[in-house]
Amino acid sequence: MELRIAGIVKESVVDGPGLRFVIFTQGCYHHCRGCHNVDTHDPAGGRVIHTDEIMAMVNSAKLIRGVTFSGGEPFLQAEALAYLADKIKAKGLNIVTYSGYVFEQLLTMAVGRPAVKELLHKTDILVDGPFQLEKRDLRLAFRGSTNQRLIYVPDSLKCGHIVLWDEITSFCSNA
Ligand code: SF4
Repeated sequence: MELRIAGIVKESVVDGPGLRFVIFTQGCYHHCRGCHNVDTHDPAGGRVIHTDEIMAMVNSAKLIRGVTFSGGEPFLQAEALAYLADKIKAKGLNIVTYSGYVFEQLLTMAVGRPAVKELLHKTDILVDGPFQLEKRDLRLAFRGSTNQRLIYVPDSLKCGHIVLWDEITSFCSNA
């Protein structure tokens, strides 16, 4: 399966908890004012990579705690990312997914798009919502503006309401 990406960072500590392998997907229609990743917007830009090649890189990254899907808008390529998430989680690694859509929008989208549902269900932490320049706060962990939430997806789906990821307790658990 193929994925169009803007880039890959093999080791990051700013895109979710712990040391992480980060895939920046290509293509985004949100056009947030002040976006730092404008090169990722063109859905025909970036480069195409096979998911097997990505998994080979993940397999050789020995110290990582998880993989982050950032962008761009990852849910534009939900099929390939859900496929990757399946293989990544089988290795005991967790998944952080960024999206310019909020959790509630993704739930609605998931009704008509099985791959969106699959990617959402395989995500441990969702960083949701568009970047809002007027709400920018440089002190925030793993996100740019205060409207964006760190949602612990498994419990949110189970409970039927949003459960925020708690940084301190989650660092001690598997999330
Ligand atoms: S969702 Fe992310 S990549 Fe897309 S415009 Fe907003 S900040 Fe930029």
